[in-house]
Amino acid sequence: MKTQFQKRLGLHRLMKRCSCGRTATIRTSWTDDNPGRRFYSCLFKPSNYPFIGWVDPLMCLRSIRIIPGLLRKINNLQAKLFVREQEIRKKKRVIWLLILALVIGSLLVSIVCCD
Ligand SMILES: [Zn+2]
Repeated sequence: MKTQFQKRLGLHRLMKRCSCGRTATIRTSWTDDNPGRRFYSCLFKPSNYPFIGWVDPLMCLRSIRIIPGLLRKINNLQAKLFVREQEIRKKKRVIWLLILALVIGSLLVSIVCCD
């Protein structure tokens, strides 16, 4: 049974049934031959029907050649960003420890000097 929400979005046209009787889900392929191409698959893993059929038409050769390289670049940049964020977090911790040491040191000096 299709809901009004699914009809409004046109999702009812995309829905397909798996051979096991369940509603198929849509996944995205990230292989070099079909990068970013959506396909129908059984919702449950492991399944006898990991691939039911394509949602998207065949991609042009240029897209097939370009997209994997772009994905690798994005993944490399995300990995570099993660490393930089870790470094920044470590430096912030060191700065806060130095500030804390400075405040405690100043308090100790003022207590010792004022006596
Ligand atoms: Zn199934």
